[in-house]
Amino acid sequence: MLKSSYLPALEWLATQQKDMLALVMRWAAINSHTFNLDGMKQMKSALKETFQVFQEEIEDIDLPPMEFINSKGHSEFKSLGSAIKLSKRAHAPLQVLLVIHMDTVYPVDHPAGEVKITEENILRGPGVCDAKGGIAVLFKALEAFERFPENENVGWTVVINPDEEVGSHGSLDFLKKVAQNKQVGLLYEPCLPSGDLVGARKGSGNFTLIVRGRSAHAGRDHHLGRNAVDALAKCILKISGLNGSRPGLTVNVGIIEGGQALNVVPDFALARLNVRVEREQDEDYVLTAMKFIINEFSKFDGISVGIHGGFFAPPKTLKGKTLTLLKSFQSCGQDLGLNLNWQPSGGVCDGNRLLSFGLPNVDTLGVKGGATHSPNEYLYIDSLVERAKLSALFLMKLADGTIKKI
Ligand SMILES: [Zn+2]
Repeated sequence: MLKSSYLPALEWLATQQKDMLALVMRWAAINSHTFNLDGMKQMKSALKETFQVFQEEIEDIDLPPMEFINSKGHSEFKSLGSAIKLSKRAHAPLQVLLVIHMDTVYPVDHPAGEVKITEENILRGPGVCDAKGGIAVLFKALEAFERFPENENVGWTVVINPDEEVGSHGSLDFLKKVAQNKQVGLLYEPCLPSGDLVGARKGSGNFTLIVRGRSAHAGRDHHLGRNAVDALAKCILKISGLNGSRPGLTVNVGIIEGGQALNVVPDFALARLNVRVEREQDEDYVLTAMKFIINEFSKFDGISVGIHGGFFAPPKTLKGKTLTLLKSFQSCGQDLGLNLNWQPSGGVCDGNRLLSFGLPNVDTLGVKGGATHSPNEYLYIDSLVERAKLSALFLMKLADGTIKKI
């Protein structure tokens, strides 16, 4: 049974669908691919315009550039957009951190299509679900919470970062800093298409294997060459063999590059791979195993193999305060007539990173939808209000002590 003090904020939210839809349509029409810095600036101004309703200073947080290994095997840096941050009641006894990303996976020339309502209750468009719908949910939940008279015990900080889709390398240090002295983390990634939340998540690492050999004329001097493509192919077969060697461990060789012409023994080849683990201790296991394989190949005359990269998100294991938080959301869901459960996922998000900084969190409080990262991405329009109510109710219960201190 819902306390009557919660009703005005929840009833107000019930009138906000049109407004939320308009916000998502406006934001999704801006291309905010991680490396489209112009689009990112536009997205940031649009967000600032909306969030100024809280009458708090909105800070721009500049981020360091992101390092990556180019197709020649050399280190390069890519500039990132800046994050935004705003806080309210920073001295309240309970502090909540709300995080979501403004970047999407769709480059400027991607044929992701326009933003439009294609069927009753379905909005399609790039980033509508992941995660611009989530930004609208976060925003309206806070607006509703600010209408709750007993909110003074809970202060909040919003961070919207520009690089989650590429692993949050630039925003990592800032997230770590801002997670200090917070008790609860709320993240607005989409929930699962069934409406369930995500519980445990795997950890993830990206690696680049670089093989250098010796070039030679493929006809005249083949015996003098040392074929880097050949060595790389054999090496990645060994590394792929690590798949399943620990429960839930996956190795995905996603990209290979190398060679220039058919009559040249190639002296360079590169492979990019992603590794996922269920348990933190398997990070060391897989790193040691990969290094062993690489050393074996480096013993071949004229061949050297190097590896760059590492784990950028530790596994998110479901226990302690994170499990308690999920149960609190399940109970808020019941109050609103939602039957919420949670499922494990192989995907990673900033929820993995915040937990590794000691901040318990629930990370799928955004909209219900699907086909994310594809041209068919969609969201269920009625989930905008539904999920905003869920977060607002949680915050109200936290503030009036119905949910005990996490
Ligand atoms: Zn996302």
